[in-house]
Amino acid sequence: MTVDSGSGSTAGPAGAAGSADVAYQADAPNAYEWTEVAYDYLLDGKLTAGIRSAGGISTARVSGTCPYCKDDVNFSEVLDAVTGESMGTLSRRAAQPAQADDGYVPLTVSCRCTGQHPGRPAGVSYGCGVNFRVEVRRDA
Ligand SMILES: [Zn+2]
Ligand SMILES: [Zn+2]
Repeated sequence: MTVDSGSGSTAGPAGAAGSADVAYQADAPNAYEWTEVAYDYLLDGKLTAGIRSAGGISTARVSGTCPYCKDDVNFSEVLDAVTGESMGTLSRRAAQPAQADDGYVPLTVSCRCTGQHPGRPAGVSYGCGVNFRVEVRRDA
């Protein structure tokens, strides 16, 4: 469904370079473009990614500027689930120890911003729709 209602915006005059005008990304949520931009942001320090380990559980966190909507991506993911409560989508990876030779762990990040994006599907309460890849350094 396309929305083409012209320029009927009633937004305020502030013009804050924010997420209000960024539509939910439904056309190319996995475009490599987001990964490229994210890489640049990582180099610039606009985006940070790290892994924190505690109690045998490693949690990857990515925060900073989203390559698409520019909000805080606010992403975290448990890499090493110890017991139960497993996430079905990760079951296949869980069969193998996630140990990269060079200490970098590839991570698929979904934007989980709290901004408002027109077109966000019902039932989805956060994010702008994009996914991108980063490699996170695993600090022993
Ligand atoms: Zn985003
Ligand atoms: Zn956003």
